[in-house]
Amino acid sequence: MVDTERTRAAEPPGPLADSIRASGLKVTAPRLAVLRVLDQAPHSTAERLFATVRAELPGTSLQAVYGVLAAFTGAGIARKIEPAGSPALFERQVGDNHHHIVCTRCGAVHDVDCAVGEAPCLTPSNTAGFTVHTAEVTYWGLCPDCQAAISSTSSSPSPLLNKGAQ
Ligand SMILES: [Zn+2]
Ligand SMILES: [Zn+2]
Repeated sequence: MVDTERTRAAEPPGPLADSIRASGLKVTAPRLAVLRVLDQAPHSTAERLFATVRAELPGTSLQAVYGVLAAFTGAGIARKIEPAGSPALFERQVGDNHHHIVCTRCGAVHDVDCAVGEAPCLTPSNTAGFTVHTAEVTYWGLCPDCQAAISSTSSSPSPLLNKGAQ
């Protein structure tokens, strides 16, 4: 993971500002704030990012956070993942082509290393003439907490798609 020790203070120079600048975007306070939260809380929804960013920059609007996220995904600093049944989640684009495993019960999301390390890591048997850039895999399963919860209350039914991602 990325070093977060030196990003605690709201300093403009630093690795976060550098990565914004390196992507060709101007460094602004909302962009720095959103990137810092993405760094600390990967797989966050825009609303969750907004709640944290607003505590730091009270003038920020949800619309502004969406704007920052659109600029980041366009510039390749952030990546948007959209598991079925979940709102879009954002994380820093780290370029390792990693995949995700999602809990079908609570919606918890974790990274899964790409076996190959670069896109596309899966080659379809028939591409219908397309050139393939990337393959995104979503694994579905039960997280350890949900496995424990289910085995301790195995008498109660309805484990599936219970919205309660912390
Ligand atoms: Zn779970
Ligand atoms: Zn991830």
